[in-house]
Amino acid sequence: MPPFFRHPASLEHDTGFGHPERADRIRAVEAELESRDWLGWQPVEAPAATEEQLLRIHPREYVERVREFSERSQPFDMDTPTSAGSYEAALRAAGGACALVESLLSGGEHTGFSCLRPPGHHAETATAMGFCLFANVAVAARHALDALGAERILVLDWDVHHGNGTNALFHDSSELLFASIHRFPFWPGTGALSDVGEGEGEGYSINLPVPAATGEAAFLSLVEHVVAPAARQYRPDLILISAGYDAHCADPLGGLALDTSSYGGMSSRVRALGDELGAPVGAVLEGGYDLSALASSVAETMAALADGAVRPEVARHPLAEQAAEVLGRYWEL
Ligand SMILES: [Zn+2]
Repeated sequence: MPPFFRHPASLEHDTGFGHPERADRIRAVEAELESRDWLGWQPVEAPAATEEQLLRIHPREYVERVREFSERSQPFDMDTPTSAGSYEAALRAAGGACALVESLLSGGEHTGFSCLRPPGHHAETATAMGFCLFANVAVAARHALDALGAERILVLDWDVHHGNGTNALFHDSSELLFASIHRFPFWPGTGALSDVGEGEGEGYSINLPVPAATGEAAFLSLVEHVVAPAARQYRPDLILISAGYDAHCADPLGGLALDTSSYGGMSSRVRALGDELGAPVGAVLEGGYDLSALASSVAETMAALADGAVRPEVARHPLAEQAAEVLGRYWEL
């Protein structure tokens, strides 16, 4: 049974009235899954991240600052408020992602989902921003590399926003191949196609910007014609999805045009890729602010990750051609 990491602490991170990143997101997902018998997955309480896990990515003073801000319910910025429960919620969100990679790399499970909040892909080493406190996926990736024997990790970030935090934290590293499909230009402003990483990490940032209103045809092609061939050459031991659902057509913030089934299409392809490479695939929740679209799309992702049905090939999209022109220096696409 694939594990579904969760924790009631996710409901105690109170972002205030009208904030899109709210506790109801988790309630909506869990209500949907409960009504479908958790799709045969096993709900598991996420542990709190340990100090050792957090300190591989965040300086001690920053971890302390998150705790203090939370105690005082002090916001980091307009987008990123805290409440008394935020620190514990953030510890569990990072801890769930770490427990997920432990479960995947111990050889037991080939897929799993860490479904907690706050999200993490905008948090940088000592900066909370964009609703994110700790860099959950980066913390989990570092844990996999430093403590669990992984040597190469592929992160696919399909949240509508560029995962600036994860990208920055591994910008000069070849230990993590960061691939992100995101609306551009758009908040947070980073993630141009020309940003391919630096130093040892040059070529290991695959930034795939897409314009407003982009839909499934482009996303599936970018996965199939850019991310998958690069991954076959990279040969990751582990694949993590930064699974945001704000590129869904119903999302109030995203302005893109994916459907619920698009997440199944992407998930199946990633799962098939993982099977081919012998790499387990874990998903970690990021954004997604339409409750019904979020709930159905998470379920769609889980069903496809567990099932791994082979999908028909899609047509090569012009955006994949454009990406190949720039990234073809590093990967045979
Ligand atoms: Zn987002």
